[in-house]
Order: sequence, then C-alpha cells, then structure tokens
Amino acid sequence: MAESIQGLKRSARCAELSEKDIDKDVTVMGWVQKSRNKGGLVFTDMRDRSGILQVIFEEDICGSGVFEKAGTLHSEYCIAVTGRVRSRGKDVNKELATGAIEIEAKDLRILSESAPLPFPIETETKTREELRLKYRYLDLRRAPLQKNLMLRSKLAMSVRNFLSEEGFLEIETPTFIKSTPEGARDYLVPSRVHPGEFYALPQSPQLLKQLLMCSGFDRYFQLARCYRDEDLRADRQPEFTQIDMELSFVDVDDVLEVNERLIKRMFKEVIGVDVELPIRRMTWQTAMDKYGSDKPDLRFDLPIEDVSEAVKDCGFSVFRDTVANGGTVRGIRVPGQGHMPRKKIDALTEVAKYYGGKGLAYLCVNCAEDGGHKSSFAKFMGAEELDALIAAMGAEKGDLLVFAADKLSLVRNVLGNVRLALAKELNLIQKGDWKFVWVTEFPLLEWSEEENRFMAMHHPFTAPMDEDWQYIDSDPGRVRAKAYDIVLNGTELGGGSVRIHQADIQEKMLEVLGFTPERAQDQFGFLLEAFKYGVPPHAGLAYGMDRVAMWMAGADSIREVMAFPKLKDASDAMMGAPDVVDEQQLKDLSIRVDESALKAAEGDMDATASAE
Ligand code: ASP
Repeated sequence: MAESIQGLKRSARCAELSEKDIDKDVTVMGWVQKSRNKGGLVFTDMRDRSGILQVIFEEDICGSGVFEKAGTLHSEYCIAVTGRVRSRGKDVNKELATGAIEIEAKDLRILSESAPLPFPIETETKTREELRLKYRYLDLRRAPLQKNLMLRSKLAMSVRNFLSEEGFLEIETPTFIKSTPEGARDYLVPSRVHPGEFYALPQSPQLLKQLLMCSGFDRYFQLARCYRDEDLRADRQPEFTQIDMELSFVDVDDVLEVNERLIKRMFKEVIGVDVELPIRRMTWQTAMDKYGSDKPDLRFDLPIEDVSEAVKDCGFSVFRDTVANGGTVRGIRVPGQGHMPRKKIDALTEVAKYYGGKGLAYLCVNCAEDGGHKSSFAKFMGAEELDALIAAMGAEKGDLLVFAADKLSLVRNVLGNVRLALAKELNLIQKGDWKFVWVTEFPLLEWSEEENRFMAMHHPFTAPMDEDWQYIDSDPGRVRAKAYDIVLNGTELGGGSVRIHQADIQEKMLEVLGFTPERAQDQFGFLLEAFKYGVPPHAGLAYGMDRVAMWMAGADSIREVMAFPKLKDASDAMMGAPDVVDEQQLKDLSIRVDESALKAAEGDMDATASAE
C-alpha cells in the first residue's frame, strides 16, 4: 500500500540530524536500508542521500497500528517517519555519522513498497556491471555513487563560480551542427525537413566558441556535452562533458595562468587538496625524450637517457647498427635494482614487445658474484665501451639498466611503458600524490602513415609558434604549436591552444592539411568568412570533466562519476538504446536500412556471444 505525502513535510535529511537535535520532533523521509524485529522493538536503518539514521519503533510509544506497520518494512521501501530525536546513550555506533542518536518513532507512512531487488544496495558490490547499469537507478542508490555524483555537482559549481568571478560568460552552443571530417567520427542526426541531409552532434564546441570570440564575448565557458563515435576503449564514453572555455586578447601564458588558479580552486573546494602553483611546465619534446610520453607520470622519476653517442661505435651490433641506420639507443637506470630476478626482467621485456619493441637489453652493474656485470649484451662489448655506457647512464654499482634500440618514436613508446611497468612493479607511486604538469609546444602537425599526409596534432585551428611558421613549407614537421595539455598523474585532464586568427595562416594551414580551397570553403567557409571581419587573437582550453571528477572521487572509471553511462559497446542497458524505430519514422526521414549490413552486424554479435 502506498500512502500519500499529504500533510507531511520533511524537516531534515537523515544524516543532517545530530546530537544538537536531541528532543526535537522531526520528520525524515527515505529508504529502508534494513529493518529487523528484535524483542518487541523494530530497528530500521533509514537512508537518504545524506546517509543513514537509525529509527526505533516501540509499541508503547508509537501505538500498535504503527508498530504493526513497521513490522512489514523491507529493504528499499520508501517511508516517512515522524518522531523524536534521542540519544543512544552508551550504544554509540561509531560506523555511522549519526551513530550517537536515533529516532524514537511516533508515526510511519509507507510512501511506496519495493519489489524484491535484482541486487542488494550495498557499498561494496560484487554485482556485475551490466546488471548494475540495467538497474542504474538502483545502483545509484549505493553510497559510493551517491558520493560521486554529489562531488561532481560540487565540481560543476566550483567551476561556474570561479569562472564567473573571473569574468567568463556561460554561453550555450547548439548540439545540432555541421559534420567536420577531422578528428573522430561524428554522430549524425538525420533531417526530416531536408531529406538526405544530416546534422552532426558536436565533438566539441570548438568552432562555435571561436565564433563567440569573433562576436566580442571575450571570455566564454560552458559545461559542454560532446559526442564522439569512437571504438570504445576502456575508459571512453560516446558522450561526455567538457569544461570548455575560450578567451580573447591572450597568449599561452594568460590561459595557463587563469587555469592554474581554476585548478587550485576546484581541487581545494571539492576535495580539500592544495595544488602548489605555479604548475610545472615541460615541453612536448622533453616529455617525450625523458618520459616517453606526452602525458608523463611525474609521481616517480626514472627518466630515459639517450646513449646513442656512447654506443655508436661499440661492439654490440644491435646498438651500433641502430644508430648507423638513423635510430636511437636509450635506456632507463633503475637505482639499486641490479638484483631484480631474471623473471621480472623478462616480464619487462614482454612489456617492451607488447609495445612493438624487439626486446630489452639489460645490464646489472657489478652484480655478478665475481663483481662483474650481469647482462644480456655485455659480452659483445669491451670494458671501456661498457664503462662509457655506464657513465652515460650515470649508473653505479647495484643499478639495473634497461635499453631499447630502434627508431625514435618506437623507443620512446617502449621505454615510456617500461617506465610505467617499473613504477608498478617497484611500488613507486604513493597514494594521495597529485603531480600536475603542463605539457607545451606540441608539434603542430603529425605525419599519418595511413593517410599519407600531415594531420593536425591538436586541431586545424591551432596557431603555430610565431618563430616556427617560416618552416611550414620547407620542414612542416618542425613547426611547433601554441598548444598545451594539462596532465595529472600520467593522464591528460585537458588541453587547448592559441588559435590561428589570421585568415591567411588559417587558409595555409588547411592547405597543408590537404584541403583543396573548395573543400576548405565547403567545410569551414563560415569560419573563414568570419575571419574577414576583425578577429581578436584568442585561445582556449577544455577539460574532460568526467576525467577530472574521476580523479577527485578516486574512482577507477569515468562510468563511476556519470549518472547514466553507456556500456562498452555504446549501448544503454537500461533504456535499451540504440533501438530500431517504426518504419514510418524512417520513411519520414527518407531513410532505408541496409538489410545486408544488419545481417552482418547480427553475425558479429553471434560471434562475440559465442566467444564469451
Ligand atoms: N576543442 C578542443 C578539444 O576538444 C579543446 C580546445 O582546444 O579548447 O580537444
């Protein structure tokens, strides 16, 4: 029986009550966490988003009608209780924030009953994620998710408050826009009014925020929903939220400066962490050379050293030939780990192979019983050559050295990942450590083997560094961009750039990216046109808000900080989306489904199902 709320008013949330409310009459509403009948008393733990509160039904106090009703309570019934706050005396429950008090119930309304649950609502869950996502509204009742979404709301507020104090205007941009071919695949929305034509959902509000700068709004921000149709990797979602901003009349330093203060403010306000300013800066080149990654994890050191010069004439042909063929030899010194068991070194070699390396060469400095080196390659090198290599690594007796020899991009990637594996193996990462770094001066362009052309590393609207633009024809790969990423503990939280605001540079950039003038006009004509009418220099940045919230919550996945995330295959298990639609809906949109594609997709599904 579901009773009405009429005439009742909630006076507080459950866990907002404390000892200072003792003897007050209150009305609380929420869910039954658990309820048990013990020796003529009914003990009910009530829960709402604030936490848990114990309610006691005593027949003498609440009367037999209410007492009987209390005896029917089960998990997740939604109830309202009116009663008096009283002290628990010596029976304090230290596990609960409200453990010093309880409610002596006088009245009870069952606002609605609950069917038996598909899984228990408990803090630590063993229920598999598919089932939890199917009943996400129940999953969200669990304390950790309640906490995460409250944190996320606090984050949004903190960002809004800070940015508006700094003179940023919150402006919404449309989510039905024009498809652009750069970047990830677009989600498309068919137009009924224009048969055969499609809107795209924005991958980011990039061009629109730039146009807002053209309109003079000079500081814009938006918590913007973005959509990218990518094959879902472990921690991606097809729709996600960016803290997106754009500023006029600024250069790199101005953007970084205001964002450092934003970062400091939000980490302090939301989780009480003090971020030390200024945040360290590192060029892309240094990040790649020293840490093998454009998102270096600086919670531990283990830098990569280039030893090509020291080994270019050595007796070990793998090293010598690699250098002779234009490659590089680089290594990591692991202090004091020369006695690492062979099995663990082999595991590191497997990491190197996984990332495309041929293997790892290793040298344990003076770790053999006779005081010599233990090594996979030392026998090919003379004593002097080895001394030179050890000196180039700055190594000492007892150190472990690992090396990769190959072309530069591969060596960076291999050693970057070996470095991470070492940190894990040696437990070098301390919990509660927050290492921020700005990675700056990214290359403007990167060569795509697949497309056989240069692609924009950030996006086609990113400005080159003034001093490098002269190389755009002679050596495009050398041109650095005014682009920056903010990296936390080895993950990218966000990124942005100063934009091109000169029509001629923008046109040239599009040409370098392989756009014919006609295609450039067709895709970005509106932007190029806008650039004719007085464009302010402008720059911006966007954070993955889900990622920021995830770090703040200490969650393992962005799904843990989103209300209704999708499964890995981009489907919504709760609503059953995507789904087929009525024939008539398709007709209205002039769309016919390709049956053979459907069959192929079904085949794929069957194959996956039987593989599982
Ligand atoms: N729109 C960019 C992105 O989504 C961020 C920026 O450049 O402001 O990565």
